Amino acid sequence: MPTHGRQPLRNKRHSGPCAVAGCQGVARWLPRSPYCLKHRQRQYRVGHPTMYVPTVTDLKKYRAPVQRALSRHFDSPTMRWALRALERDLLNYRATNGYGYEVWTEARMQALKASEVKPLVLLQRLCECYALYREEGHRLFPTPKTWFAWLARRILTTPRRCIVPTTSGATQLKACGQVIEDVLGRFARATLMRMDKDEAERLEFRKSCEALASTR
Ligand SMILES: [Zn+2]
Repeated sequence: MPTHGRQPLRNKRHSGPCAVAGCQGVARWLPRSPYCLKHRQRQYRVGHPTMYVPTVTDLKKYRAPVQRALSRHFDSPTMRWALRALERDLLNYRATNGYGYEVWTEARMQALKASEVKPLVLLQRLCECYALYREEGHRLFPTPKTWFAWLARRILTTPRRCIVPTTSGATQLKACGQVIEDVLGRFARATLMRMDKDEAERLEFRKSCEALASTR
């Protein structure tokens, strides 16, 4: 038996059970992975074999408060800054070093720009994602990679078509998500703080109104 040279591509002797507890699937030796086909695919696409992937429905409850905050502060310098940053640094993102993930991100951003999604819609969606992350991120996303990949996929959604190629994986998406975080993460977190403040003021105002009414 030769000890060197090309080995058979599918060596059934080395196949084992899938590493996900309770899964009956078989993890094949090649391409090497601790998971069965289904869980490997999921690991590749979202960055984790079994995580629950939040959907648009999970974002729904943040829609109204975010909308309120954005429209209330539409004329603020922060909003103007965010719209500029979105246009300049995200939609017109350029690969500076030519790394694969940069080129990938640039192509996706061009597609997003061409789809003519309104900037305000993107900011709205961005803040909704960050709101979800703040509330339930520690529970929903097992690793930072899964969060960034999910964020990128949500931002790269247009009403008419999906602009993330089906062959794309979590690694590319994560790099894109990190660019989004670099450009607009601070804005999103500031907006959430603004929302809290507005809400606190609203409650305070209502309380003083009630106090006033009771003294009469
Ligand atoms: Zn499995």
